[in-house]
Amino acid sequence: MKAIVVEKPGGPEVLKPVDVDEKTPRRNEALVKLEAVGMNRIDIWIRSGLYKVSLPRIIGADGAGVVEAVGEDVTNVAAGDRVLIDPAITCGRCRFCLRGFDSLCENHRLLGHGIDGTYAEKIVVPAINLHHVPRELSTVQAACIMVNYATIWHALVTRAGLAPGSTVLVIGAGSGVGVAAVQMCKLFGCTVVATVGDDWKAEKAYRIGADYVVNRRKRSISEAVNEYTGGRGVDLVVEHAGQAVWDEAVKSLSPGGKLVYLGATSGESAAINIRYTYRRQHSFIGSYGWNKHEIPHVIQLFDKGLLRPIIHTTYPLTEAAEAHRLMESDNFFGKIILIP
Ligand SMILES: [Zn+2]
Repeated sequence: MKAIVVEKPGGPEVLKPVDVDEKTPRRNEALVKLEAVGMNRIDIWIRSGLYKVSLPRIIGADGAGVVEAVGEDVTNVAAGDRVLIDPAITCGRCRFCLRGFDSLCENHRLLGHGIDGTYAEKIVVPAINLHHVPRELSTVQAACIMVNYATIWHALVTRAGLAPGSTVLVIGAGSGVGVAAVQMCKLFGCTVVATVGDDWKAEKAYRIGADYVVNRRKRSISEAVNEYTGGRGVDLVVEHAGQAVWDEAVKSLSPGGKLVYLGATSGESAAINIRYTYRRQHSFIGSYGWNKHEIPHVIQLFDKGLLRPIIHTTYPLTEAAEAHRLMESDNFFGKIILIP
């Protein structure tokens, strides 16, 4: 089968299709013929060497397709089922797994990171990592769910305890995670201030439900938040850009507000003014991945038609290099999908 294998870190040009051996599912595993691969920023970090992984590696975390074969003792899926893949391989035995906090699993491996991933025609995964695709959803749409929407459910609901009716600032509304955050906050009846980096993205941010949109290149985020909230600030900031917007994110918080952060796409160092933040009783909440028990909640929202991913464009898997160039240009809104 064809797969995109990173043999050494580098630019998009290192992404070349090669022939690799197809695997056979063993006990408790299933073979999935992939129909769609959802691209994520982590794919770029692994390709470029920012994230160190043992190479060669088939990259890619998100994917959906059709089960082609199952190993012994698999009962949750069968050949022919349309499935989406939960890319977090966890042990089910460590102290974190046992208390349902498996995003902290001591043996956590992500597809495309610690283990071969989804930039391939087929993949073998533990059957427990497969979930049926809701009937009204295409496999292209299903390939958008896990890394963006499960991550945002974990960040907003589990970690930050999002209260319906809150006022929320979503940083970077054009990315997959940003779109998911805006949509999820609207489901919770929140008022959403969204930031974008280009005027053409503002229109799209309004269309997915943002109440106010700030072009961060033209205007200070905290000043805009101050204006839109009548000087009160927001109850929650969802922040995945990191260093470049950290100070503005903190300044946008209401006293008692929370900042939930993940991703740090623009850089990982930030300073906080300790007196400023403790007097205002701000909470800083790190968030990573999702817990397995959260996944059915997320899929249910898609099943009921309450959430739909926004697809920017699709590329054939063999043109993964072009797709990476597009993501690195930031000139997109929503998901970039690869079709094996
Ligand atoms: Zn574990």
